[in-house]
Amino acid sequence: MKAIFSLNSGSSSIKFALFTLDGANNPMLSAGGKIERIGIAPSLRVRSADGDIVLERDWPDGASLSHAELLKDIFAWAAERLGDRQVIAIGHRVVHGGTEFAAPRLVDDAVLDALEKLNPLAPLHQPHNLAAIRAIAQLRPGLPQVACFDTAFHHDKPPVAARLPLPRAFHEQGIRRYGFHGLSYEYIARRLREIDPVLAAGRMIAAHLGNGASLCAMRDGKSIDTTMGFTALDGLMMGTRCGAIDPGVVLHLQTQLGMSAADVEDLLYRKSGLLGVSGISSDMRTLSDNSGPEAEEAIELFCWRVAREAGGLIASLGGLDAFVFTAGIGENHADVRRRICERLAWSGLWIDESANLGSALRICEANSPVAVLVIPTNEERMIALHTLNVVREDHS
Ligand code: ADP
Repeated sequence: MKAIFSLNSGSSSIKFALFTLDGANNPMLSAGGKIERIGIAPSLRVRSADGDIVLERDWPDGASLSHAELLKDIFAWAAERLGDRQVIAIGHRVVHGGTEFAAPRLVDDAVLDALEKLNPLAPLHQPHNLAAIRAIAQLRPGLPQVACFDTAFHHDKPPVAARLPLPRAFHEQGIRRYGFHGLSYEYIARRLREIDPVLAAGRMIAAHLGNGASLCAMRDGKSIDTTMGFTALDGLMMGTRCGAIDPGVVLHLQTQLGMSAADVEDLLYRKSGLLGVSGISSDMRTLSDNSGPEAEEAIELFCWRVAREAGGLIASLGGLDAFVFTAGIGENHADVRRRICERLAWSGLWIDESANLGSALRICEANSPVAVLVIPTNEERMIALHTLNVVREDHS
């Protein structure tokens, strides 16, 4: 039997999942986990497909442990779990594919070099995604590695949703709207097709609300517009990212306040959003547990901006049939969902408060003009499916 490994390597966390292939070559989850707080005191939790914890480890003094060393540990664990089954390929989430990479791709040195050029466009993610690929190339030379791009799902959106209102030459240079969280949105589109094919064929907004946050407008499961743009900084307010702000602010910070480009990058990517507005935390749960007015202001601004951007996407879609919440906040935070739905009640999102407080799939009233759903995302499974396809094509 064979297996596929999915990896999503970030700055302070590595998420991974191990899939074995059944007789028909369908990926079946064997176990999945996450290493968090890399660089401080890493902790590892691995759960089986049933949700039981199968491995737990903490490194209280692990500040100097690199991503590469931790990946080595994950691989050693995977080899033990798999026994005589063999990992045939490893799939990676890679945030930015630029203009060149519109589909998942087997990685070689040339591809890696091209992707590295995109590092400045996704400084929170891309360097870490690529470092994991390099680390595994050292650890397991010859093992096929597949890059799965967050931008790819949005590649065929209408030209009007891709163009920035700048002189044409900039567009030709690749300065255009790409969109991100594509693996998550692709998974949600597939799941909705399984759950309710009629709804999936209509007009949907998916709200991926996690540390990073964006919205995607889909028609018949295809992206037609999204809130992130050239970089993953655009659109919604996020944990530490500002989202869309007047570009004049950036000019002012540099020309009037004398901030360097590096300081502005740090401000907009790492010190803004929920963290910046609250002055407390980037974590929505922590803010909800805080009774101070700054925490409340940050939560309210987050919800207001989701509703405001959703209004724009409803215009792009020409109406709305379904609204899907997903990712850490979207899947778990009932109060944030309620606030967003109340702001969008005019467009037909009529939330059912008791369903919203439970763990229902549908959280709207029976006669709500727009279906409101909560669907857990699964980027790891999407990565495994793409990886399998690429490896199969490579062998055929
Ligand atoms: P990432 O973008 O890092 O994958 P996640 O999708 O895990 O982020 O989302 C992290 C966010 O989800 C945090 O703001 C966290 O507070 C929030 N969150 C996670 N679990 C819960 C929960 N049970 N209740 C409320 N909020 C939650």
